[in-house]
Amino acid sequence: MRKVYLDANATTRVHPEVIEAMLPFYGEKYGNASSVHSFGREVKRHFERAREQVAALINADSPGEIVFTSGGTESDNLAVKGAAYALKDKGRHIITSSVEHPAVLNTCKYLEEQGFRVTYLGVDAYGLIDPDELKRNITGDTILITVMAANHETGTVMPVDRIGGIASERGVVFHTDAVQIAGKMPFDAHKASAQLVSLSAHKIYGPNGVGALYVKKGTKMEPCFHGGHQEHGTRPGTENIPAIAGFGKACEIAAEQGERQFAGVRRLRDMLKARIEKEVPQARLNGHPGKCLPNTLNMSFKHLEGESIVLSLDLEGIAASTGSACASGSLKPSHVLKSMGVEPMALNGAVRFSLSMFNTESDIDYVMEKLPPIIARLREMSPVGGWK
Ligand SMILES: *Cc1c(COP(=O)(O)O)cnc(C)c1O
Repeated sequence: MRKVYLDANATTRVHPEVIEAMLPFYGEKYGNASSVHSFGREVKRHFERAREQVAALINADSPGEIVFTSGGTESDNLAVKGAAYALKDKGRHIITSSVEHPAVLNTCKYLEEQGFRVTYLGVDAYGLIDPDELKRNITGDTILITVMAANHETGTVMPVDRIGGIASERGVVFHTDAVQIAGKMPFDAHKASAQLVSLSAHKIYGPNGVGALYVKKGTKMEPCFHGGHQEHGTRPGTENIPAIAGFGKACEIAAEQGERQFAGVRRLRDMLKARIEKEVPQARLNGHPGKCLPNTLNMSFKHLEGESIVLSLDLEGIAASTGSACASGSLKPSHVLKSMGVEPMALNGAVRFSLSMFNTESDIDYVMEKLPPIIARLREMSPVGGWK
């Protein structure tokens, strides 16, 4: 059966050049990067090269500002807890948004149990927070603002430069989860006035289980792990060198051809969107039509369950999802769409199509051969009916 993968926001296929960059470290190039002998030094050289490649993707001043982690989730934990604990004597108030990834939301909930106060800013129908509302919520007690750069479910791109500007005016540390935006659209840690930026390799054609946190020089951080001196003690533990080498390569590829490559992805996404709107009745876009990642399309098919659509597509070899991979399978409506005020009859019928550089026009043709009859059949079976 033909297979079409449209779930890149959950994870991407590893780029062949990334695999090539990783292989030597599973073979002849071994050693602990902390060792003084030639094995260690050789590994360390490559490891530091990867740090430069990651730093370059987000325009960090120095590779020393990149801390390698086990992925986006750890980076978010390290950023939010690390900053909160380091600044707890200064204040106990954190501001975030209601549409963050669970890695940020649940870390904030945990910190509430630890005596911090958290404000969850609501979003408009497009999934955007209101910078003026952010301003109004900053108090003398506010120590951290954490708002994502782009949403994983809808692709909505937040005005991070504006948010970071406000944070810096008020002397508040700004963290942004840039896991989804990195490599898809230009993202500059400086322009965003961010002290902390989370990244993950497996969303940008790198391997699973590796990510990074950008920590701007001079930012006070409390580590989550305690151990050796690796990553200046901010994240101890022997480094996952093969994965880090692959992550570095993925960042290099993204920096080199990101924009060009994503023009192609955007074209396919726009094509899919136009065809769904034309060929499938009662489909509506979730998210912002313009301020959006080039690869993401979240559509609601009214009166249907997204889960049944995703399962039916899967039977045809098409991989899509109902929102975030972490939330799917739970059948609970997405917290992101709920925050956006999506009407009840469309809330459960959301499907996220997220494209990658490996998709082709014939993938879109295949989806559009299968999707409209699936929707029609499910609607015929739907007990709700009434959509006609
Ligand atoms: C995937 C994702 C994460 C988690 O990253 P992992 O590397 O899978 O732990 C965090 N934030 C966003 C926005 C994501 O899309």
